[in-house]
Amino acid sequence: MSYDCAIIGGGPAGLNAALVLGRARRKVIVLDNSQSRNAVTHASHGFITRDGVTPAEFRRIAYEEVLRYPSVAHQSIQVTDVRRAGNEFSITTEDGASVTARKLLIATGLREIFPDIPGLSEHYGRSLFNCPYCDGWELRDQPLIVVSGQPGVFHMAKILYNWSKDLIVATGGEDVLTIEQRELLASRNIRIIETPVTAFIGSAGKLQHVEFADGTQLKRSGGFIAPQLQPKADFQAQLGYEVTETGGIATSEMGKSSVPGIYAAGDASYVMPSQLIYAAAQGSKAAMSINMELTEEEFAGR
Ligand SMILES: Cc1cc2nc3c(=O)[nH]c(=O)nc-3n(C[C@H](O)[C@H](O)[C@H](O)COP(=O)(O)OP(=O)(O)OC[C@H]3O[C@@H](n4cnc5c(N)ncnc54)[C@H](O)[C@@H]3O)c2cc1C
Repeated sequence: MSYDCAIIGGGPAGLNAALVLGRARRKVIVLDNSQSRNAVTHASHGFITRDGVTPAEFRRIAYEEVLRYPSVAHQSIQVTDVRRAGNEFSITTEDGASVTARKLLIATGLREIFPDIPGLSEHYGRSLFNCPYCDGWELRDQPLIVVSGQPGVFHMAKILYNWSKDLIVATGGEDVLTIEQRELLASRNIRIIETPVTAFIGSAGKLQHVEFADGTQLKRSGGFIAPQLQPKADFQAQLGYEVTETGGIATSEMGKSSVPGIYAAGDASYVMPSQLIYAAAQGSKAAMSINMELTEEEFAGR
């Protein structure tokens, strides 16, 4: 099958692009293996009209809307290979089948990598999160911990102070806070602990204690932890697009990559902040850019 555009990834970025392209009467296929980044959470926040829905419900509504447009197709499948084939792209899926498309939108999101701390996965998405704007409200005024050995830890603690004044910062002993930053945190009674966290202890996803390498346990009912982020799918070797310092696909404001015909949107282009509404907006912008490029080519007789 041949399409105007193949969209790899059906999160908010890919699906909003499909919506715009479907409404523009473009023949589009969304290839998605349904492993969105926020699947571990019980609720998505901060997207107007959808505040508090489960990630699964968000997707259900999105697919329902997108698939109303007859030129949009969807396959629940993993893309395993993408190549340029003349003026088009050839996209191969895990079942060995392939489709071709004139344009390609990569909206495959990010993978999170965490240190191997017992109890982390049981609490992540329930009482441990990564983004205060997404889940800070639910943890407001509770005793919280920020676990991060990354330079952004000071920023995270400062921001989180809006939601709770009872904060502990655990750096794992990494040298990520300046003397001035330590003093500023101390001036707000925010304790800094250098001893590494060794366990998150709680029940049914609700954090109760954090344990440290020296055996100490502190009562905390929630927290924020900074993951390492990595592209979920990497087609750079085959397609040769430029990536940014952080590993995302480098794009213009309208989602164009450095390779003609290839676009990226959402977490795949690693534009922060990583939020559903930003990803959807980037998908929309990329879709308009793709439609414009297709239109220009058609008017030029190519
Ligand atoms: C715990 C947690 C809570 C969050 N809470 C919120 C919140 O409350 N509000 C908010 O705005 N944001 C929240 N986020 C951030 C939000 O999840 C992301 O910003 C958003 O999902 C990015 O959308 P995306 O479309 O770029 O990527 P994703 O939603 O990750 O979608 C990418 C899709 O591409 C698919 N894919 C990847 N590789 C392939 C491949 N090779 N073949 C086929 N398909 C592929 C994936 O399976 C996935 O379905 C949260 C994130 C986490 C981790």
